[in-house]
Amino acid sequence: MTVPMGGSTSTVMNSYPTASMIGHMGTATLRDTYGRVADDLRISITDRCNFRCIYCMPAEGLKWLKRDDLLRFEEIARLARLFVERYGVRTIRITGGEPLVRIKVEELVGMINEVDPTLDITMTTNGVLLREKAQLLKDAGLKRINISLDTLHMDRFHEIARSDAFGRVMDGIRASREAGLWPIKLNMVVMKGKNDDEVVDFARLARDEGYEVRFIEFMPLDGDNIWTNEQVVPSRRIQEQIEDLFPLQPVADPRPGPATRFKFADGAPGGVGFISSVSQAFCTTCNRIRLTAEGGLRTCLFSLQETPLRDLMRSGVSDDHLGRVIETAVWRKEEGHLINQPGFIKPAKNMSQIGG
Ligand code: SAM
Ligand code: SF4
Repeated sequence: MTVPMGGSTSTVMNSYPTASMIGHMGTATLRDTYGRVADDLRISITDRCNFRCIYCMPAEGLKWLKRDDLLRFEEIARLARLFVERYGVRTIRITGGEPLVRIKVEELVGMINEVDPTLDITMTTNGVLLREKAQLLKDAGLKRINISLDTLHMDRFHEIARSDAFGRVMDGIRASREAGLWPIKLNMVVMKGKNDDEVVDFARLARDEGYEVRFIEFMPLDGDNIWTNEQVVPSRRIQEQIEDLFPLQPVADPRPGPATRFKFADGAPGGVGFISSVSQAFCTTCNRIRLTAEGGLRTCLFSLQETPLRDLMRSGVSDDHLGRVIETAVWRKEEGHLINQPGFIKPAKNMSQIGG
């Protein structure tokens, strides 16, 4: 079965290899041909956003998905259950677009939490609606939160996010803390000439407030096609700048993740992490899979094809059937992305349409 997907094609095989292996808890694991196990699911619940960050979305002209094209909460919860109960997924991150613009998102958090209250349910948000939503999310079972913040200056915020909501985002961060959504991670996309002079200020903020600041390299997933390698600030440069003032100590992570994490050597609270997707890709240990808002399963941010699950679910297939389609897709996960190599092809979708 071949299904057209945004300019490319996605092939769902009728027979599939052994992607699922029985894991130690009796559940299966989702394994690919390179031996990596997918246990971190990112679910985008909307392609819409109330910001227009220059590294993510075009200023205008993006066509939104129709409401009926979006996965419904029941469909998302069904998939979450399948991934958790059958395949041992332990982390579910809700993202978008801006997840808090989806009406009653807290109900979805509650539905996922019902699948397994010990699940690590997290969210990535621009923070602007957190004053209204933080407590509701916490009560529904959200465990942690990542809030995107690229600058500590209002005028720059306007330039980068193309929004005037700087004050509301800062207040949203406070509201999350008050609601007990802790620890808080702040995501900063570092762009040369735009905000790279603020990395030490962000490290200081981490120390003062106890946040973990994640410095993210700018990836070629923007909506305006402005990405060039010259605008990427390699993580090691950021680390050097920070260490000039605040020496760092590596944190040993029990599960390998995309971020290299550090605490402050002098014992100050908080920490920093570096997501070096461009300068030091972490593809060989990548444990992530993604669902787009319209129910496409993506095995890489830079996938050129998706496996569409929505219409399959709506046609009434069983969980066994759905599981086989998912296993096949994961089995064929790409070895890695090719940023800065001759074979690199930028996906047709930008970050807000994929789910970061
Ligand atoms: N709207 C929410 C937010 O901004 O936090 C969630 C969705 S956003 C696509 C998820 C994360 O992707 C954010 O931390 C954002 O900064 C990051 N991001 C977006 N475009 C990026 C790019 N081109 N390179 C690196 N990170 C990017
Ligand atoms: Fe919206 Fe998040 Fe993309 Fe910014 S990074 S435009 S807040 S989806």
